[in-house]
Amino acid sequence: MKVLKFGGSSVANAENIQKVLAIIKAASDPQIVVVSALGGVTDLLIKAGTLAEQSNEAYKDVLQKLETKHLDTARALLPVTHQSSCLSMIKQHFNELDEICNSVFYLKELSLRTKDRVISFGELLSSKIISAFMLSQGLEHDWLDSRKLIKTNSNYGFAAVNFSVTNDKIAYTVTSSHKNLFLAPGFISSDDHGNTTTLGRGGSDYTAAIFAAAVNASSLEIWTDVTGMMTADPRWVLNAKTITHTSYQEAMELSHFGAKVIYPPTIQPVMQKNIPTWVKNTFAPNEAGTVITGASDQQGEIITGISSINSIALLSLEGSGMVGIPGFSKRLFEALASEKVNVILITQSSSEHSICVAVNTNDANKAKLAVDTTFEIEITQGRLEPLKIETDLSIIALVGDKMRHHTGIAGRMFSALGRNAVNIRAIAQGSSERNISAVISSDDVKKAVNVLHEAFFETTYKQLNVFIVGAGNVGSKLLDQLKQQQQFLLEHLNLQVRITGIANSRKMLFVDNGNEINLNIWKEELEKAEVMNLNAFVETVIQKNLRNSVFVDITANPDVAAVYNKLLEKVVSVVACNKIAASSSYESYSKLKSLAKEYNALFLFETNVGAGLPVIGTLNDLRRSGDKVNKIQAVLSGTLNFVFNNYDGTKPFTEVVRQAQAEGYTEPDPRLDLGGTDVMRKIMILAREAGEQIEMDDITNNYFLPASCFEGSVEDFYTEMGKQEAHFKALYDEAAAKNCKLKFVAQYENGKASVGLQHIPSNSDFYHLYGKDNIVLFYTQRYPEQPLVVKGAGAGADVTASGVFADIIRVARV
Ligand code: ADP
Ligand code: ASP
Ligand code: MG
Repeated sequence: MKVLKFGGSSVANAENIQKVLAIIKAASDPQIVVVSALGGVTDLLIKAGTLAEQSNEAYKDVLQKLETKHLDTARALLPVTHQSSCLSMIKQHFNELDEICNSVFYLKELSLRTKDRVISFGELLSSKIISAFMLSQGLEHDWLDSRKLIKTNSNYGFAAVNFSVTNDKIAYTVTSSHKNLFLAPGFISSDDHGNTTTLGRGGSDYTAAIFAAAVNASSLEIWTDVTGMMTADPRWVLNAKTITHTSYQEAMELSHFGAKVIYPPTIQPVMQKNIPTWVKNTFAPNEAGTVITGASDQQGEIITGISSINSIALLSLEGSGMVGIPGFSKRLFEALASEKVNVILITQSSSEHSICVAVNTNDANKAKLAVDTTFEIEITQGRLEPLKIETDLSIIALVGDKMRHHTGIAGRMFSALGRNAVNIRAIAQGSSERNISAVISSDDVKKAVNVLHEAFFETTYKQLNVFIVGAGNVGSKLLDQLKQQQQFLLEHLNLQVRITGIANSRKMLFVDNGNEINLNIWKEELEKAEVMNLNAFVETVIQKNLRNSVFVDITANPDVAAVYNKLLEKVVSVVACNKIAASSSYESYSKLKSLAKEYNALFLFETNVGAGLPVIGTLNDLRRSGDKVNKIQAVLSGTLNFVFNNYDGTKPFTEVVRQAQAEGYTEPDPRLDLGGTDVMRKIMILAREAGEQIEMDDITNNYFLPASCFEGSVEDFYTEMGKQEAHFKALYDEAAAKNCKLKFVAQYENGKASVGLQHIPSNSDFYHLYGKDNIVLFYTQRYPEQPLVVKGAGAGADVTASGVFADIIRVARV
């Protein structure tokens, strides 16, 4: 004999019930079928009862809605000829329910006993409607009244089963029938006085397990709306995977720690009888789902699953009076037990100075009252603090039988959480080493579950959440490149790069949690989005609290550079194309670097020097591997290179500069390039990355631009350059006369840096530098005479975007 249980969503409406019937018909063994109330009905019954208790007449509307739902379902399922008795059964039940709720309304009291009575109608109605449908389809069966078979104590709402009586009743009823098919309502039972009791929310799973154990079933099948027990709650973790095979113990831990797919007490009866239990999907019946047996899958992952429980309160009992004195924990737990407070997690520090327990938030106040009363004397004497309560917490748990054979699991767990700014309030590990749990803020729980899922299920992908400010030339190119590479990154690096926010100076666009911006239409969407406000943008990034968040600054705006510290403190990594932060005062540069270190985030700015060329990365690698930089010589301005490579006096200097701007090489104000400031910033950044504590004032600038060019607007600057054509021509001619080229060279040596125009002879490394190329020569202890050379395009939207892209990927790879 098999037992099949169909949950609320499986029987939510006529269409789904048809699917259920097909599954029942397909099984050849004798069966006991257990059903839940139609999806959502139990909640609505509780709502009706509660409204009535509050003297709110709206309970009548709720009952009306429920009646219609059941009548409609029956009408949709049954041929007209079979309808009348079922419809009158439904009406009769609702008359009774109306009367009960009326009484509650007048008495203004909904006792737990009455509440159980009210909610029992959900399963009674669903099972009777399904029974009528089965009969109409020629499926002969017995409808079993679970209230008469499952006997419990009188702990209403959460009754404890008397197994010896229950097992006998079920076994007797089933064996004495000549039928092969039985249908029973889940969730409901009765006490010794014949009053209806219930087995706890989600209890239909338990009903099915009780039936299975009582008849020694060959298997139990829990049919629900997901394909099996999964590595995490699929509503939160989009790439959660079905666990193909797990043990009773693991399934129990997972469900105790919040995997709602199975009601926790369900496992006990089937485990005792060693009954294989399947979790399967009513809406994909051919998929295997999960099988739960005595042993877990030895080949599988170390971690079987990750689960979480919300509404947790942490109670801390602290005080010097506890140290070395036995009996405190006994009294604490007795006080909690006397109030029926269920303790979910316990930790005690070895100093014995404090004990922490996690309980459901609803129990927190009564726990405090009980504990403070128990320890009244110690509290008055100042030896103990009154019980401290913290709420809005959740527990996350990592579960797996194989954990005990592996070291480093806890380390991986907590470093993954730490990297994502998830603060841990308390930790517990069972001595079975099957479970490590941590108490964290409820605001972080979704992120934490996803972070752990990424850390432990390597076959799945890591998600990067990218927020971009600056959607101009480089920003647009970056978005193009990301769009083009998304699939590749997913396939080859197991990396999902999601763009979760984009802003330009006018607008900012975000998408709801769980979604990403469609890169095919981001421009149109951004146009329609809300007005940009930098603070609001930053607040949204922080408040979204997404794992592996990266903030990308592709502006040249000092205000944007000023928000990095706030982001780094929230463990949001920063990728800056904007040079302002790294080239501001040494103090703020190093503050950002140490913030990044302290909070385990990255602050990357490879494109500050040489656009996409690996200049800073190379320098960092040299230093990390123990090399020491003696000297750096470089041509670092794509703009100046372009200008001097294209200027020979035939076309006016000012026109060549205009062309550089049109091609997107220059800063928005080209004077930053022409005047050497941009190159000064770059050599300063390199010097700093080489370990030098250097400021802009320490750099000598032998600029070539006449002072008059710096006055007025950008247009005035172009006009003034036009007037100074003779000056530029003279510079050119002087170099050409010596067969030299003009290059604007930056140099750093012995703690000193300088920039300026130089005559470059043909035997120099700098001579053959064309177009907008940059070149950097690193002279180091390991490269003393022949420098390490990095050379290539040092400006342009495409290469800059690809440098930013590479930094973004670097964030994912830590
Ligand atoms: P039923 O009504 O069939 O009893 P439930 O809603 O009680 O169904 O349980 C199924 C739901 O449990 C799924 O829809 C899923 O969202 C949730 N769930 C939570 N954790 C897990 C998990 N680890 N594996 C599968 N489902 C889970
Ligand atoms: N209908 C009950 C509930 O919603 C029992 C169940 O569905 O398992 O809690
Ligand atoms: Mg359930």
